Amino acid sequence: MVIKSLRTEIAILAITSILIASCLVLWLSVKAYETLYQESASNDLNGLSENLSIDLLMSVVDGDDFEISNTLLQLDQYQNVRFAAVYDEKGTLMYPHIGKALTEGLTAEEIMALPAIDFDEYFQYPIGVTTGKSAIVAKKYIGDKSLPVGYILVSNDLSTPLLNSKKNLVKTVLPWVVITILATGMIIFLFQNRALAPLIQLANFTRKIIKTKDYSLVAKVGGKQEIAHLTDGLNSMMKDINAEVEKNKEQNTLLLSQQAQMEKMANYDALTDLPNRQFFEKTLAKANEQAKTSGDNLALMFFDIDGFKLVNDSFGHKIGDRLLCRIADKAAHILTDKHVLARLGGAEFLVLFEKTITEKQIIEIAEQFIDMISAPIEIDSWNVNVGTNIGIAMSKDAEYDTSKLIANADIAMYSAKKDGRNRHKIFEHSMLEESRRKHDIANTITHALNTNEFTLFYQPKVNMQGVTVGYEALARWSNEALGFISPAEFIPIAEQSGSITSITEWVIERVCKDTQALTAGRPNIKIALNLSVHDLNNEGLLPCISGNMQKYQVKAQNIEFEITESAYLDHFDKANYCIEQIKQMGSTIALDDFGTGYSSLGYLTQINIDTLKLDKQFIDEIGVSERSTLVTKTIIDMAIQLNLQVCAEGIETVEQSHLLIENGCHLMQGYYFGRPQPLETIISDLSASTSKD
Ligand code: C2E
Ligand code: CA
Ligand code: CA
Repeated sequence: MVIKSLRTEIAILAITSILIASCLVLWLSVKAYETLYQESASNDLNGLSENLSIDLLMSVVDGDDFEISNTLLQLDQYQNVRFAAVYDEKGTLMYPHIGKALTEGLTAEEIMALPAIDFDEYFQYPIGVTTGKSAIVAKKYIGDKSLPVGYILVSNDLSTPLLNSKKNLVKTVLPWVVITILATGMIIFLFQNRALAPLIQLANFTRKIIKTKDYSLVAKVGGKQEIAHLTDGLNSMMKDINAEVEKNKEQNTLLLSQQAQMEKMANYDALTDLPNRQFFEKTLAKANEQAKTSGDNLALMFFDIDGFKLVNDSFGHKIGDRLLCRIADKAAHILTDKHVLARLGGAEFLVLFEKTITEKQIIEIAEQFIDMISAPIEIDSWNVNVGTNIGIAMSKDAEYDTSKLIANADIAMYSAKKDGRNRHKIFEHSMLEESRRKHDIANTITHALNTNEFTLFYQPKVNMQGVTVGYEALARWSNEALGFISPAEFIPIAEQSGSITSITEWVIERVCKDTQALTAGRPNIKIALNLSVHDLNNEGLLPCISGNMQKYQVKAQNIEFEITESAYLDHFDKANYCIEQIKQMGSTIALDDFGTGYSSLGYLTQINIDTLKLDKQFIDEIGVSERSTLVTKTIIDMAIQLNLQVCAEGIETVEQSHLLIENGCHLMQGYYFGRPQPLETIISDLSASTSKD
């Protein structure tokens, strides 16, 4: 048995000790009593036998049996006398007497049946009192000790009276023992209650702490030294724990806030505070899942900031960042809280619309976005002009697939972009074909280069006298599955997919290879080839150019590189470095598509180019209005002032050519003078004309 309570254990211990002590005391008392009783009994018997010897003297001298028997009869008043015997001076039994201790309660027959007492043997007892285990025997002289007339022997029962006496003693003492035990028990109980009360209070106190977890509590328990120490110890421990708990709480709060911060960092865009791609994709996936079950059709909008890069480059990143924040802010104001606006990264944003929105409402929002973004936005007293294109896609069309839905909205946005700036379009499955074709083109380019699917056409450039002074190399690609693919289609795709460098390197080699044939007999002919913005980042470009020039024995002066105005300005430093290197080799540089996009002409004084290629846009306008003719003339004048050659592209009519010649344009290129043609055609035309001459 396991005793759980300290109180019970103490009580059991105390009661057991009291019981043992009481029993021991009782036993010792009984033992002492026994000795005392024996002493007193032997004294009594000694006295009695002494008196009897005196009383018997005369009757023994006289041999008066009657008188002896009378005297011995006195013994019947003593309950404990077993027997007595009178002997003569020789020790012969004169008179026996059986006492009450042997006969009490017995019938005459029973008395007769009692075993015979061997008085002769008893006579052997010494004079005086002999105490045995169960009896005391007293033997006395009758008469003078030196000359006795006989002997008296009395035997008293000791065991029965002693037992009775002991019983009596126990009977008398036991209630007191019980009372003492009870009293002691009570005293212990009271003492224990008093002594253990502070301990119990402490136990209750600890239980309260366990329940409330309030470690700021202080135990106020009085008591003896040990309890006081325990209380002090407990309080000081509690103080420490409380301090630890408080510290932990503080750290926990810190951790929680750090966690919240990290969660925010993981899920929100640091610049605009809008949900980021990761968070948005999770939200969209959840919404898609629900919509799939309920059969709702969710709408997703994708829009980007057109011209954002230019803002970044011309006004700096700070203004760019503020522009993004301003647009995010304004867009959030157009939307309600139920729609989710997120920044995908860069200048791309997504909106997940609330499921009850109608197509009409989405279009209205798209138009508000276009108005908001295309209006000049004032930042730090700059008027920033950007635009946007918006694509909208529905979850049913994407079969509730999150990535497909985003991709569809993206496809719709690109489709809108094709139609011009500030347009919006809702995704249609036909757009997928376009995008698939885009993918196919991107995936086929490298293979096509290796299998000679690409060729180069050359378009002549003529001087004011109509003499061909150069050619522009233009890539052509015809694929069995994809058909004829215009460079206007595959060049932007190659730029996006990164395969443009391979195309450029292929063009460089082919141009170098063809230059020999094109310059044969005409050492000043210039062959121009187009460089993309990505080529300016290609470290292999310059080695490729010089390597091929060396390989095909081409003079650098016969090669011109055309770089579009936008590529140049978007990567001003890179482009300048490249241009410097190319020019050091001895080749020339033409700024292509001049006049498209950039209205600032200031940069023209800072760049080291040779030729300005006036874009077809201007050529189409000349002769149409006086004003546009004047603009073109002004540009030509300015270029001449800057010591640049001017080449007009896209000339289709004789009027255009005349007007340009009148205005001092040095070079001309266009269908009017010749379409881009394969090398073979050009060579055979050349040999035909020389043979005519
Ligand atoms: P671009 O460099 O401005 O080339 C002139 C484009 O205008 C050529 O289109 C040419 O065929 C076309 N063109 C020339 N004269 C006329 C005309 O009188 N009327 C009309 N309507 N068009 C005319 P193409 O060959 O389709 O090339 C389109 C663009 O693709 C080029 O514009 C150039 O930016 C790019 N491109 C072509 N080949 C290459 C190449 O090998 N490398 C790179 N990086 N770009 C290339
Ligand atoms: Ca060109
Ligand atoms: Ca051009």
